Amino acid sequence: MDKKIGLCWIKDDFRINRNPALCEATKNHEQVVAFYLYKKSKFEKQEAQKWWVSNSLNLFKKKLNDFNINLQIVKTNTYKEFFDQLFLRKDYAIYWNKIYEPNYLKFDKYLEKNFFEKKIKFKIFKGNILNEIDEIKKGDGTPFKVFTPYWRNAEKYFIEKVPSNSKKVSRCKKINSYFKSTINEKEILPQKNWYKKFENYWTPSEEEAIKELKKFIKERIANYSENRNFPSIIGTSKLSPYIKHGHIHVETIWDECKKIRNKGINKFLAEIGWREFNHSLINYFPHMLNENYSKKFDKFPWRKNSKFLYAWKNGLTGYPIVDAGMRELRHTGWMHNRVRMIVGSFLVKHLLIDWKNGETHFRNCLLDYSEANNVAGWQWVAGCGADAAPYFRIFNPILQGEKFDKDGKYVRKWVPEIKNIPNKFIHKPWEFNNDLNFKIGKDYPSPIVIHETARNEALNAFKKIK
Ligand SMILES: Cc1cc2nc3c(=O)[nH]c(=O)nc-3n(C[C@H](O)[C@H](O)[C@H](O)COP(=O)(O)OP(=O)(O)OC[C@H]3O[C@@H](n4cnc5c(N)ncnc54)[C@H](O)[C@@H]3O)c2cc1C
Repeated sequence: MDKKIGLCWIKDDFRINRNPALCEATKNHEQVVAFYLYKKSKFEKQEAQKWWVSNSLNLFKKKLNDFNINLQIVKTNTYKEFFDQLFLRKDYAIYWNKIYEPNYLKFDKYLEKNFFEKKIKFKIFKGNILNEIDEIKKGDGTPFKVFTPYWRNAEKYFIEKVPSNSKKVSRCKKINSYFKSTINEKEILPQKNWYKKFENYWTPSEEEAIKELKKFIKERIANYSENRNFPSIIGTSKLSPYIKHGHIHVETIWDECKKIRNKGINKFLAEIGWREFNHSLINYFPHMLNENYSKKFDKFPWRKNSKFLYAWKNGLTGYPIVDAGMRELRHTGWMHNRVRMIVGSFLVKHLLIDWKNGETHFRNCLLDYSEANNVAGWQWVAGCGADAAPYFRIFNPILQGEKFDKDGKYVRKWVPEIKNIPNKFIHKPWEFNNDLNFKIGKDYPSPIVIHETARNEALNAFKKIK
């Protein structure tokens, strides 16, 4: 046993199972301190995530306590500032799991160099992903840009080496504190109270993630391929915030799925595959984090229209399926994937507003916000991403509503103003004009754009960059 303190840097790793950094720290050291670095600027445009992280810290702290591991939260302006101070001490060894975002991986290099030069023991582990990014490449060594061949290779590669889950976190000897200046997780909570509603929907703990996974596999995965498209049904796993913040490892999901056989499993694992693909993309093409992946879109004639953007963000566009999605997001911190595609398409194609505005809004409101999935999701919708939906394929929000929310159950839930409108008009309430109790433009907004006109304008705008 190493007499020094074992430090474990917790990032998106709020779990005991399959947490290699924590396992190794507790294997090598009698006394272990876990720490979370709260960098305020990281969360400036991620309000919803502050709630998730604050609560995750609270629950994980209690869990680590059972292992006599103290979880300390340290506030810092920059990670560099924190670590430059830490380099001055020599009474520890340090462990952490990777986060597959270019800035984190770049910073790992800085830490590696410094810990090595200063002869401080450190170890970095694979993070919450099936395959390391550089393990999956085309035969010629270049990265995949299309999902299907990517996943075919990635799945095969993973199956050949499925890692075992034999390592466990051990109980330690209590050490009360290592860092002097720490904060309470409550300090991380957003200033505004809108997050209060999240408590009705989510419990950010590892137990909850595992419970939800098991329930999903038992009750819903068999019909996942069909039901995943209907927002009024709980047909998907709703695991995204847990996966993003590492309450559950994707290898655990893989293992649990492979214990049973049914037709939903491959489709479900392919969605996990999209997440892998997106992480690969942002690391091989990091320019896409801030710019169009496809350069030709740099000339796209986006419009600036704050009134439209406001209506979109607040669920007041007059298109029920769009408004329901945006309200679900604000209320629960999550939105159904089909609806993410519809509202995204509406912003970039009907309103001709740059996808970056949507990306920023989602980042602020999503509990599952993930740098890779969000930016790739938006560029997929906008048509400027890798393996994206072609720009000229424009979702019709009325037909999408009629197809995926036929009886209007979803829109009635989130847009109660129209709850009494008959099914025939539920996705085009402006055509319903024979009820004295409902007036379009007064009880619910008139559509801010006309679908056909907006569609033609979008196609004309697209011609300019062809
Ligand atoms: C515009 C847009 C923005 C998005 N932003 C995010 C984001 O910030 N964070 C995020 O996790 N997902 C994002 N997605 C992808 C997807 O909508 C969510 O992952 C999914 O809705 C989460 O619900 P679920 O856990 O029930 O998914 P399930 O259908 O149960 O899928 C299981 C897991 O697979 C992954 N996954 C599923 N669909 C996708 C997908 N299309 N792309 C990548 N991974 C996927 C997620 O980790 C998900 O939890 C975005 C999609 C779009 C169109």
